Amino acid sequence: MSLLKHHTDMTRGDKYLLLLLLSVSFSLMFVLYGNTTIFHSKSRSTQAVVTVNGDIIRKINMPTNSRYSFAIEGSSGSFRVELDGEKIKVSEAHCAGQVCLNQGWISRAGQSIICIPEKIVIRLEGRTMLDAITQ
Ligand SMILES: [Zn+2]
Repeated sequence: MSLLKHHTDMTRGDKYLLLLLLSVSFSLMFVLYGNTTIFHSKSRSTQAVVTVNGDIIRKINMPTNSRYSFAIEGSSGSFRVELDGEKIKVSEAHCAGQVCLNQGWISRAGQSIICIPEKIVIRLEGRTMLDAITQ
């Protein structure tokens, strides 16, 4: 009798444990899925930061609605930066070497176009949740 009772208790305990494990794994899945969603929205929302001589001259929220360009005055002449949706590039440059021009389009957060002679940096930054809240 005592053995049977013990066995019943064990079964009830197992059932409880199984239920607990199921609910834990379910909430874990939810948390993981939630984090993945946040991560995706983070990486989708990027910002192009243009600096000249270390000074931020422009911040553009990406992707842009339409293709457009703007000019930057460099010491060697006018630079043109072109934007198209998620992509950004230097479309006109008069610097030595024209490395920035030859780099072409960049579209992912973390990528940058650097013009060393003109000290122009175009950086794509992933906006953090904090940035999204404070903006
Ligand atoms: Zn350049």
